[in-house]
Amino acid sequence: MASNNSLKRIRTWYGMHAIIEIRSRSFHRAGFGKLLIPHPPVVNWLLRYGLADKPYQQLSITHEYAHFQTLPILLIYIFISIAWIIKIPEINLFKTGIVFFSILAMTEILAEAYVRVKMNREYAVFYQNISIFPRLIFWSIFTLISAAGWIVMVISTEV
Ligand SMILES: [Zn+2]
Repeated sequence: MASNNSLKRIRTWYGMHAIIEIRSRSFHRAGFGKLLIPHPPVVNWLLRYGLADKPYQQLSITHEYAHFQTLPILLIYIFISIAWIIKIPEINLFKTGIVFFSILAMTEILAEAYVRVKMNREYAVFYQNISIFPRLIFWSIFTLISAAGWIVMVISTEV
């Protein structure tokens, strides 16, 4: 795949067409129709650390696509989190901030878990001689952040 012609249109399981663009290692966009949201590919940078261009592209595209595929699950997750935090009697900006970041972390966990399951065989081949540490950092930090949201919600709830 040429790096200057990187726009992809992929159908999601719920029927909408996702547009994904991985123009370079530092420019990713994704969205529906004309609404394409650029974002810094920090997560893909960390997860794909040390990979050659081809596996980088393949895994990054699947990761972006995974955000769309897991969107309905994420929306349910966001709904539960919001329903929970508005019931907390002493809610403040700090607690809300932690829950917000825990939702962002869960967004990335869901997407990468999807990539892991969907590309199981390729994953093993691509990462054969690649250090496990960047991926270990991703999984531990993002799991901790998402857990922090739940800890805040649970300890703030009066029983
Ligand atoms: Zn992501």
